[in-house]
Amino acid sequence: MYQFSRAIYRELANEVLPGSGNAVCERRQRLLAECESTVERLATDRHYFARPVRTLFNDIRALFPMSSQLRVYGVIERHVLLAAQYVDTQAREGVTFDGSPLCCHATTRKGTSCQRVPLPGSKYCPSHKHLDDDVRELEVTAA
Ligand SMILES: [Zn+2]
Repeated sequence: MYQFSRAIYRELANEVLPGSGNAVCERRQRLLAECESTVERLATDRHYFARPVRTLFNDIRALFPMSSQLRVYGVIERHVLLAAQYVDTQAREGVTFDGSPLCCHATTRKGTSCQRVPLPGSKYCPSHKHLDDDVRELEVTAA
């Protein structure tokens, strides 16, 4: 998964705002950390991470000069969408980003984790699909 955050970092590291002392180095470290946390969240929490491109852009835009903002957004968009596609493709095949099997997030009546494969685009299997709908409705109500 980190190939995606590294790719963003490689394209943007040289454009961070100049500064004295360790400023540039610190900005680059911050850039890499933010890229990694976005990609991590995409991989592990895809369904509840609604706007990954905008989130990462807002987190790192202050590290770049005004003249780089458009390019920064474009680079983020390109790589984050690729990462999201990758996670989705893996999910359709019933595996997570690292190839381990994807399991339904529900708990059965016996109190154990459900072992069934989730529906595409859902955290839940067909029997627990209603749980997903409940969460979505709650989010809509709250918003
Ligand atoms: Zn289930």
